[in-house]
Amino acid sequence: MLTVEQLATVIQGQVVRFVQQLPTMHLLTDSRKLSQPAGTLFFAIKGKYNDGHKYLQQLYTQGVRQFVVEHGEEAELIHQFPEANILQVPHGLEALQKLAAWHREQFNIPVVGITGSNGKTIVKEWLAQLLSPDELVVKSPRSYNSQLGVPLSVWQLEPNHTFAIFEAGISLPSEMQKLQQVIQPTLGIFTNIGSAHNEGFNSLEQKVEEKLKLFEEVDLLFYCSDYPEIHEAVQTKSIKSFTWSHQHKEADLYISGTTTAGHKTIIVYTFQGEKQRLSIPFTDEASVENALHCLVFLLYRQVPLSDIQDRLDRLHPVAMRLEMKEAINGCYLIDDTYNNDLAGLAIALDLLASQPQRGRRTVILSDLLESGLAEEKLYSKVAELVQAHGVERLIAIGPVISKYKSIFTLPVEFYTSTQDFLQTFSAERFRNEVILVKGARVFEFEKIVHAFQQKVHGTVLEVNLDALVHNLNYYRSKLQPGTKLMVMVKAFAYGSGSFEVANLLQFHRVDYLAVAYADEGVLLREHGITLPIMVMNPSPDSFAKIKQYNLEPEIYSLEILQALLNTAAAGVTYKIHLKLDTGMHRLGFVKEDFKLLFALLLQHPQVQVVSAFSHLAGADEAVHNDFSQLQIANFISMAAEVEARLGHAVIKHILNSAGIARFPEHQLDMARLGIGLYGVEATGSEQEALRPVSILKTTISQVKSIKQGDTVGYSRKGIAATDKKTATIAIGYADGYDRRFSNGAGEVLISGQRCPIIGNVCMDMCMVDVTGLEVKAGDEAILFGPQLTLIELAQRIGTIPYELLTNVSTRVKRVFYAE
Ligand SMILES: *Cc1c(COP(=O)(O)O)cnc(C)c1O
Repeated sequence: MLTVEQLATVIQGQVVRFVQQLPTMHLLTDSRKLSQPAGTLFFAIKGKYNDGHKYLQQLYTQGVRQFVVEHGEEAELIHQFPEANILQVPHGLEALQKLAAWHREQFNIPVVGITGSNGKTIVKEWLAQLLSPDELVVKSPRSYNSQLGVPLSVWQLEPNHTFAIFEAGISLPSEMQKLQQVIQPTLGIFTNIGSAHNEGFNSLEQKVEEKLKLFEEVDLLFYCSDYPEIHEAVQTKSIKSFTWSHQHKEADLYISGTTTAGHKTIIVYTFQGEKQRLSIPFTDEASVENALHCLVFLLYRQVPLSDIQDRLDRLHPVAMRLEMKEAINGCYLIDDTYNNDLAGLAIALDLLASQPQRGRRTVILSDLLESGLAEEKLYSKVAELVQAHGVERLIAIGPVISKYKSIFTLPVEFYTSTQDFLQTFSAERFRNEVILVKGARVFEFEKIVHAFQQKVHGTVLEVNLDALVHNLNYYRSKLQPGTKLMVMVKAFAYGSGSFEVANLLQFHRVDYLAVAYADEGVLLREHGITLPIMVMNPSPDSFAKIKQYNLEPEIYSLEILQALLNTAAAGVTYKIHLKLDTGMHRLGFVKEDFKLLFALLLQHPQVQVVSAFSHLAGADEAVHNDFSQLQIANFISMAAEVEARLGHAVIKHILNSAGIARFPEHQLDMARLGIGLYGVEATGSEQEALRPVSILKTTISQVKSIKQGDTVGYSRKGIAATDKKTATIAIGYADGYDRRFSNGAGEVLISGQRCPIIGNVCMDMCMVDVTGLEVKAGDEAILFGPQLTLIELAQRIGTIPYELLTNVSTRVKRVFYAE
């Protein structure tokens, strides 16, 4: 066990309080992920968007007794933690990395470091699978490859492991050296180089140089010499390498031919003077490249050829995302068939625990594979994890887990196979609960997911939660440290699904949410959203609900204030937000109202003004800059008068998404983020920085051949100038696909090709021209997404992205996923 003094030496910190020696088993950097307080060491890290020191008190209350804090932080809080060991360091993240580096040094086993622009996670997962018959492999969970993720990955190393694979990802110069010190790889794989995450680098060469820092100490580096930037840079260094190539005969492994045969690719190669052939169970270029990296590694390890073929045959695509979707009987499904090991299970359980008030928490779990732990120890850990995450029912599937019935203390049902479970499956037994489905590939849990899924027509709106978080953080990075953030989740969160988005925002600790109507706020409360919520259009008949659900109305006129006062019960306080009209002329008080307004407010101290705000009419267009500046100046003066008359400060805010981009100097106390969160940059100048959030998809119902002169659809508007092939797709204006897209105004993407709408858009369907394309019923059609942007589509029909997004009907199923 590491003593507190040793720990201090390792992380180069000072012990500011020592109470007793405690084991350090779990490293925690995110207070929300606490599951086992005993044995947890919390590192308070100051990040760009958050500060871990804010959560010390909460963690102490939850039972954490060891903390690493930064110098000059929370000196007072320290006195409030009489039972905790506290260490101080100059920099929390560096301390964490030092501890992980020390841990790494305790192990003398092969450690593979993987970096490159693409394929890191897949190569890591596959390699772990391919080596697992011979080795007890530890690897990074999911894509834990950052400054924070790498130390947490390395911390998983345990004495029984015989082999380790960790991936490293960087976005800025100077980051790789730190990761090298933590991973200390003995072998390296450089997957490839492309333009992904180019922002932080001046050139491709600089990026390659930086990535190569991971391999400075390796015994051998594996790479494909067909990437000239990588090959040239490696040549200038004294790194010993093992190359493969389609082009260079002198490579250690020369690939002389690749041919596709059905779902396989046949590889002919020369290795150590011998010509051989193998097949890879994929045909797409990226998968073949990833598999070749793995093949090269197996050859170097002298795994017999017949074994290699056997193992390659068992490779499956790695599901890179974890999906959340609605299921039968009001259930909600978290579908994670990525793989099933301990680290991945912990991550999925965190997600399950972050879904408040979805109802009972159920986990359907298969045997765990490839953990490297003795079975009994492994399943005790599983039981511990499941218990710590508040799981109420476990359905355990597999011969191995079934052997350990006695370890579990919560209600568990055991089945020896997926088949077994499905034979007795009855939908009646699942109602209003959140169900995590987590199984290793071989258990084919997709069949279980299928049994739970609601039958819907083929149209879905896919919402990328990682992209939402990226956009949130982008706007956060533009705010001054003290500026609060309100996020607009009105209109079903701009069509994206209000509860899911609100829940994510709550997890990421925004300050405020805003909705248009009281009912929208009620729905959020019923789903466990506890953030303050402003209601922009309160109607007098909604005040009772507003109070009951602790919502905060926007008050924009004397009439609405009077209505609130009329319904207000004695002794009840109301928090309100004053809307000021500075030129938009929609809702809000003008100066002339102030006398009566403040007379009323001062008479009724039970009504508390928490904020005063206004809205810019033209922030998205530069031509209105002068007007916007005028509105801002007006607002500042009016808000000052509000504060003077009330005799206290209020939160002042005026900027929307476009305002944040255009008038950074006027953030005041809070900004209100709307469309930007959903991936549309309204000023058009910073669109590159955002990630598209949603993809609207449907399927082809039927394909037809029509003759020159035939017509298509209602009013016979679509006229075939030549013989054509058309596809009827399952989306119409009732789903929110705008009728203005009729007759060629709109296009959809089918197998990557743009296909124009032919004829009028119908209520539930429309027809597209697919002449010359190989398509069939059941194929996917994309209505909007990264390759067919909302901005372009809005322009085509003379509207704005806001309208297209919010029009997507609620009958279209939303599917949320994380990468
Ligand atoms: C909708 C709305 C916003 C957000 O506007 P975006 O342009 O989507 O950023 C901000 N403030 C008010 C009052 C709004 O109604």
